[in-house]
Amino acid sequence: MERIKIAERLFYIKASENPLSADVGIFEGDKFMWIFDIGADESVPISLNKIQKPKNAVISHFHPDHMGNLGHAELENIYLGGNTFKYAKCGTVIEDDVLFDDGEKIHIFPLPSSHAKGSIGMEIGDYAFLGDATYSTMKQGRACYNASVLKEEIAVLKNLSAKFFLISHDEKFVRPKEEIIAELEEIYNKRDPKESFIWI
Ligand SMILES: [Zn+2]
Repeated sequence: MERIKIAERLFYIKASENPLSADVGIFEGDKFMWIFDIGADESVPISLNKIQKPKNAVISHFHPDHMGNLGHAELENIYLGGNTFKYAKCGTVIEDDVLFDDGEKIHIFPLPSSHAKGSIGMEIGDYAFLGDATYSTMKQGRACYNASVLKEEIAVLKNLSAKFFLISHDEKFVRPKEEIIAELEEIYNKRDPKESFIWI
């Protein structure tokens, strides 16, 4: 599988549509390889399993294109949100911010999301992997955001020190933090204060 370099020790494998498989982030730590989302394309675990270093996986949310390969990769530790745990039935649940030191600081954090309950993100240096957390959800056949969840999400994202946000399935995987926050604020500003949902 082709690994695309993002920065020193930081790579990703691009998402695919057939099979539907999310972008897979890879950080080469001193002790572990840190994998953000394990994808669903079967070639991902095949290439990851060839790497000798022990591997930890951080799973952004429960959708199959992000965690479908969980049973196929050799992993030391799995970190995920509480709702994802219900589907994965394994791993350590992240309820609060957690910091690891593995050559660089690895910050794993809960991320309020309209798209998927129990989403988490991973921040390393200038880069924050967000999975699909900034996307909308569908209600009654229409795309929408939960207004209060979106407000919380924007607050969490603003607090991150990363300069770039990495969002799955996006044609441009690495994007400036300000650009993403501006887009989300524009959506939030469209809310009707009498409604819980923002229809887009
Ligand atoms: Zn998703």
